[in-house]
Amino acid sequence: MIKKKKVIDEIYIPDVGSQVETIDGKEYLITNDAMYTFFRRTKGEFSAFFLALKNEKRLLGCKCTKCGIVRVPPFLTHCPDCNFAPTELIEVEQVGIMNSTPPITYFATSLFQHMAPYGRGRVIFKGADTAMSINLYTTTGILVPGIIKKGTEVKLIFRDERIGEMTDVFCVPTAELTQEKINKNGLQESEIDWETPQEPSLPVASEEDSNQYRKALDEMKDLIEDMNRNESVRKAIAGWKRDIQVKTRGGQFAIMIDDGDIKLTESVLSSPDFIMVCDDINALLDGLAYRGAITDSVINKKIWISKNMEFNTIFKLDRMARFLVRSKKV
Ligand SMILES: [Zn+2]
Repeated sequence: MIKKKKVIDEIYIPDVGSQVETIDGKEYLITNDAMYTFFRRTKGEFSAFFLALKNEKRLLGCKCTKCGIVRVPPFLTHCPDCNFAPTELIEVEQVGIMNSTPPITYFATSLFQHMAPYGRGRVIFKGADTAMSINLYTTTGILVPGIIKKGTEVKLIFRDERIGEMTDVFCVPTAELTQEKINKNGLQESEIDWETPQEPSLPVASEEDSNQYRKALDEMKDLIEDMNRNESVRKAIAGWKRDIQVKTRGGQFAIMIDDGDIKLTESVLSSPDFIMVCDDINALLDGLAYRGAITDSVINKKIWISKNMEFNTIFKLDRMARFLVRSKKV
């Protein structure tokens, strides 16, 4: 049986119960409670646009019957430039050009966290005269600055499950797709290859590199053993399971997270959940030792990860580093 999704995800709904928090040596009782309001919202005059996205995988705009300007999305029923002449709905193409370089959101609010990291930018689709705001992704691994810029050609992609919202669609660069897929209208996310990201190549290690690698690896092993023994660090990865293959200039190893346990082994995994490439192992070591954030190293392209959504795991690694340092201070 398929469980129906709720407007508020269950993970955000706290359990009935209470807890005691100690602040400055005094105990305070805290209970979980709720205050909620739900509402229904009509798409009104935009209904045709959203229904076309949802049911027909078509992108609509409105064309002024007088001046011919095509606005996408079709946000005007009458053209203000032509003494309010009526507009008519027309279909536009599903390939367009970035109107600006999109900013990337890495740390989203709870509402958008499941989509991060994502770019948000404006695209002028072929046949349109105005730009449409849309979320942007890449299939080449983590989304970092430089992949999608002003002028980049992008393709409209439809979510497999659509409900008639702007999040039913997003864009990826056409450079990452075959011509056949670029030409296809109504291309869905499941038709795209997300599984063969472009792994950065590493230079051959010198003897000096290998020595540095051994030294850093030993320090990392001690650190991860410390984490594994630490109660608050274990809490940060409760219920989380990831096998990560880490490739560096000096060699490769695996970090395995399994519901509170974390361990490092010098092995090559046959099917890791994702791959992390860091030329200099110290970029990762410094993060785990809380000498800088791993998330920053990802954003600054010192560490590459093969799956965009695994930024979440990187976020957890930073949290573990923070928890370990904090618990040692007490
Ligand atoms: Zn007009």
